[in-house]
Amino acid sequence: MAKKGRVFSGARPTGRQHLGNYLGAIKNYVALQDDYECVYCIVDLHALTTMDEFEDLKQNTAEMALDWLAAGIRPDETIMFVQSHVPQVTELHTILSMFTQLGKLTDLPTFKEKVAQHPHNVNYGLVGYPVLMTADIALYKTDTVPVGIDQASHIEFAREIVRTFNHRTQSNVLIEPQMKNTEYPKVLGTDGAQKMGKSLNNHIELAATPEETLARVMTMVTDPQRQRRTDPGRPEVCNVFTLHKTFSPNELPMIDRECRVAGIGCVDCKKILAKSLNADLAPFRARRAEIAKDPNRVWDVLHDGAKRATAIAEKTMDEVKAAVGLP
Ligand code: SF4
Repeated sequence: MAKKGRVFSGARPTGRQHLGNYLGAIKNYVALQDDYECVYCIVDLHALTTMDEFEDLKQNTAEMALDWLAAGIRPDETIMFVQSHVPQVTELHTILSMFTQLGKLTDLPTFKEKVAQHPHNVNYGLVGYPVLMTADIALYKTDTVPVGIDQASHIEFAREIVRTFNHRTQSNVLIEPQMKNTEYPKVLGTDGAQKMGKSLNNHIELAATPEETLARVMTMVTDPQRQRRTDPGRPEVCNVFTLHKTFSPNELPMIDRECRVAGIGCVDCKKILAKSLNADLAPFRARRAEIAKDPNRVWDVLHDGAKRATAIAEKTMDEVKAAVGLP
């Protein structure tokens, strides 16, 4: 079946993935393969902009790739690779930086946020982050980028850089990417307050054992109004209930009803969630264990992906260099 276009998406190498990564991105990555030619990149160069320690980068890259494969990324059709394995991206980044006004980069709200988060490390790469992201998208002649509402401004900025390049070089070398709006559900962590993330240690790993999953779920914050087992609860403000919506659809009416009349306690409710999660993730965990038996498998996939990505990148760079008159 003819594909609708070429999708690019990148994610920082954060190691083993968690439920937030799965529901917010990976699940969508897997589904997009049916309709699009997909290019999925582990953006290790982006990761360097905010890193203080480097020794885990390689391992985190491998663990993340392993999770992607176990979740259903099909490397025979999808190009899955590591950003730094295709050095043309840094070449395009340099050229596109000449088409990007510095003031616009330093005015971006995302840059200001990063400065606030990393005041001791406001490096040059941090300023150029959106230009490198544009190079990622443009290098592979991507026409579609899946985005959540909070990322739309990044892609709008990338479109602007591409437009400027094409206009000033009087060419149509680069493709202005279209946004494919994706409703990413915001997945809260076990604290029930902040977005699930490793740095906050409020995450539940996909590859955790059933026992680890149960232990994590038991720490989840529930409706603060339920101080005692006999207090009625409010499922609509409880993150355990939110996860039940995805993982325990059959139990949902019972939990909704019984929570409100204190007919079920939070401990039992969490045990049901852990059971549902473990049942849902069992095939993923089995596939992960199978793939991990061959320690070379992940790197073979990533190197093969880099070869295929390089073939596209070389052609793009020939056109870009010609457009800017490089001999
Ligand atoms: Fe949340 Fe379940 Fe407790 Fe109700 S019973 S507050 S839904 S954990």
